[in-house]
Amino acid sequence: MGNALIHSISGSAVVASLLVAGCSGTGSGKLSGQGAAYNGGSIVGGPRQHYALGSQRSKAIRVTPNRTYQNVSVTAPAPVPLKLPTSLLAEVRVHKDYLPRSARGRRGQSSMRPRYITIHSTQNWSRGADSWRHSLALKGSKLGSLSWHYTVDENGAVQHLPTNITGRHADLNGPGNKYSIGIEMCEHRGNSRTRTVDRTAKLAAYLMYKYDIPLTKVVPHYHWPRRGMSPAHKNCPHFLLDNGRPGRKWRGFQAKVKKYHDLITIQGPAYASR
Ligand SMILES: [Zn+2]
Repeated sequence: MGNALIHSISGSAVVASLLVAGCSGTGSGKLSGQGAAYNGGSIVGGPRQHYALGSQRSKAIRVTPNRTYQNVSVTAPAPVPLKLPTSLLAEVRVHKDYLPRSARGRRGQSSMRPRYITIHSTQNWSRGADSWRHSLALKGSKLGSLSWHYTVDENGAVQHLPTNITGRHADLNGPGNKYSIGIEMCEHRGNSRTRTVDRTAKLAAYLMYKYDIPLTKVVPHYHWPRRGMSPAHKNCPHFLLDNGRPGRKWRGFQAKVKKYHDLITIQGPAYASR
């Protein structure tokens, strides 16, 4: 399937545009107040409050034997999340298409235990520049040494790297690269931004669950200062920032992520026993 898509993609023109448009690189953003501190998010009720799973394991309830039914034990129905994490992940429709070890984007990488999730947008408006096209460019070393973990578009997502190794998408040799999973959102012509953002929120929520990452550590690329570059804080993902920095739009995205994370972590009512 991937091959069919990839082969249907023509062209050096778009690949060339990828070279200049990748959000993770040196592109400049129009940003005022560069260098201003950003605390990584302001949604209340953050990190661990949603992690109730560990304390709510099901327990077998012994029913006192009586004369009629001796030694009968009944296991209470386990509380279940409103949605299974695997169901949420299935909705994202992730296809794995890893960079080969020979690709430039995989050179010099190290192992990682993810502590953050960094959200980007591709700033690539070329026709057809979807997640598969970016995968093709990364695999063909068309984006220099850049690499990240997922690219999301309106129809699905492609995973380019395992989440236990580092990418190069945020801040040169900084903590954004060393400790975060990088997710790029496509913005080519005809791609639904709403659906892409929604899918990205689902993916971020699943990764929060999987790696025990709090909402405050789901951050825009802006969060990571890039040493020696101007502006240090990139206007990325530009359409989720207000005047180049996190504000109302970013809080809206955080709320969306939280909504999906709650779905897979907050326990629903147990199924009634019959
Ligand atoms: Zn970025």
